[in-house]
Amino acid sequence: MKEKTKRQDGFRRGAGGVFKCRGCGKQTRATNETLGFKTCPPCYEIGGMLNGLSDGNVTVAEFMATCESLKGFDAELHLDSYAQHVIKEALEWERENS
Ligand SMILES: [Zn+2]
Repeated sequence: MKEKTKRQDGFRRGAGGVFKCRGCGKQTRATNETLGFKTCPPCYEIGGMLNGLSDGNVTVAEFMATCESLKGFDAELHLDSYAQHVIKEALEWERENS
């Protein structure tokens, strides 16, 4: 009789498992929020906030404060050249309009 082998490492692959974030390239796991986006939680949050920032709905100060509060946030990893561009544009806009 064959004995069933059960993996005990708790590290499930496949659907809902570990994947490479398409934003920062870090290995990550999907959460309910990020499922289907293929990004890690910080990249997911930052992606949403960048839209608000470029629309003028979020200030640079608010954006940075939220970034710093994200679990696992790393400025070098998560603020790519696009993000830095949006931040720079928003800073210039704020300076001209304050
Ligand atoms: Zn990421």
